Amino acid sequence: MIGFFEPFARRDELAAIGIGSFGPVDLNPDSPTYGYITTTPKTEWAHFDLRGRIVGALDLPVAFETDVNAAAYGEHAWIAENRSLDPFLYMTVGTGIGVGVLVQGRPFHGLVHAEAGHFVLPHNRGKDPFPGICPYHGDCLEGLASGPAMRARWGQEAEHLPDPHPGWDLEAEYIALGLADLIYAFSPQRIVLGGGVSQHPGLHEAVRQKVQGILNGYIQSPLILDSIDELIVPPGLGNRSGVLGAIALAADLTRSS
Ligand code: ZN
Repeated sequence: MIGFFEPFARRDELAAIGIGSFGPVDLNPDSPTYGYITTTPKTEWAHFDLRGRIVGALDLPVAFETDVNAAAYGEHAWIAENRSLDPFLYMTVGTGIGVGVLVQGRPFHGLVHAEAGHFVLPHNRGKDPFPGICPYHGDCLEGLASGPAMRARWGQEAEHLPDPHPGWDLEAEYIALGLADLIYAFSPQRIVLGGGVSQHPGLHEAVRQKVQGILNGYIQSPLILDSIDELIVPPGLGNRSGVLGAIALAADLTRSS
């Protein structure tokens, strides 16, 4: 990455860098490990000073966010109709499951950052005896429904799983449970559902129906009852939400400094 950006930095063609990183990461600017990747299961990257290495090499302002917060930020910043929507969420279902959260247009941080990919779900082991693959929790949302979980449960890549197949109904069910919990917790005005697995034809429709079934009329909003296809949407930026979000975060930095 440094090798790629160095020539541009040398020619003074870069004003700032935006990073959207897999995590968990340290987002607290007052922390001694700000900008580090922390306890990731990707062990080679654990406790790596990602932001610091980029700052050290390129000497530029560097914005640092989670990959999913950056994706949420991209969808929000670059798509006009999204800008007024608050809270605004992005869930990716792919090699992992993660959720980016924007509140009042800004990435939501707390103790660390949202980790809603690890939601605990009702897991009917009679219907789905698969124990899950999350190294920390087993059968959390990511452990049950990420791409690697589907591969481990069915013995083939999600993209090669035929349809109809009971795996797709189960997948829609787990994603819908996660989305229902997000709707209860954040009352979002929009949730973008992205990531490789979510692109399976028909999955969005199945998920929306199941979300309505789980909520069961409890939340009285026309967006849920009548036009849930405007609440839960595919990414407007395709698979570029993250990278365009990182660019928007970098641009903010040049305006504020
Ligand atoms: Zn987990």
